[in-house]
Amino acid sequence: MEGKMIDENGLRIDGRKVDELRPIKIEAGVLKRADGSAYVEWGKNKVLAAVYGPRECHPRHLQDPSKALVQCKYNMIAFSVSDRKRPGPDRRSVEISKIISEALEYVVFTEYFPRTSVDVYIEILQANAGTRCAGLTAASVALADAGIPMKDMIPSVAVGKIDDQVVLDLCKEEDNYGQADLPIAVVPRTGDILLMQMDGHMTLDEFNKAMEYGFGACEKIYQLQKDALKRRYAVEDVEGLEEEAPREQQDMEG
Ligand code: ADP
Repeated sequence: MEGKMIDENGLRIDGRKVDELRPIKIEAGVLKRADGSAYVEWGKNKVLAAVYGPRECHPRHLQDPSKALVQCKYNMIAFSVSDRKRPGPDRRSVEISKIISEALEYVVFTEYFPRTSVDVYIEILQANAGTRCAGLTAASVALADAGIPMKDMIPSVAVGKIDDQVVLDLCKEEDNYGQADLPIAVVPRTGDILLMQMDGHMTLDEFNKAMEYGFGACEKIYQLQKDALKRRYAVEDVEGLEEEAPREQQDMEG
């Protein structure tokens, strides 16, 4: 693709360096009705994740007597993109729901909850590329917030290639006009890769560099995920206590 998306100083259209993430904010426990939830702002992406369960599995014929199902529904709402998105599932959202379900199922101890379903809803309120990564990052915080036993959380980020250079965390313009887009998700504790998709082409050297950027960024995102949970469950001072005590406190009382 022609064009200058990286300037002579090595800076990208939004001023970032090639190995720089967009600003990321994560908040856990934002919804009262859900068993667990998280809200993520990631550059111009705004993503909400809610977890319900483990609960009775629907449709019932999907029940597995040996383990829980993890069923994710990824959805981009109508005003999340500049053209109004046609509401409802499409091929893309079905694909993203599937890959996120599979990644989450790997970390949840599903064998503890046979016949049930852990339902994960991801709503993209505002999209600017990398929403599957932001969605998965939010969903794993929401699962942890729901108290669902899991091996680890899953940070995720896209790496890519623009102007023949490997870059971290593509924004919308870079995603649309770049040469490659490579979202990954990892288990920080083990280094296992739970998601890797590739759109475009990279040489082996570029791929290795992309992995270096991606794994480095996942470490940072993982830290933000843990910080969000710590903030959520920090003991508040008495004056700051809400009418309804935080779940941690209810557990201690019960
Ligand atoms: P991801 O959001 O995980 O990067 P894609 O690479 O498929 O997934 O999409 C890149 C970006 O393209 C999205 O984040 C969104 O900003 C935009 N986009 C995706 N689907 C649509 C759509 N139906 N209409 C308008 N923009 C879209």
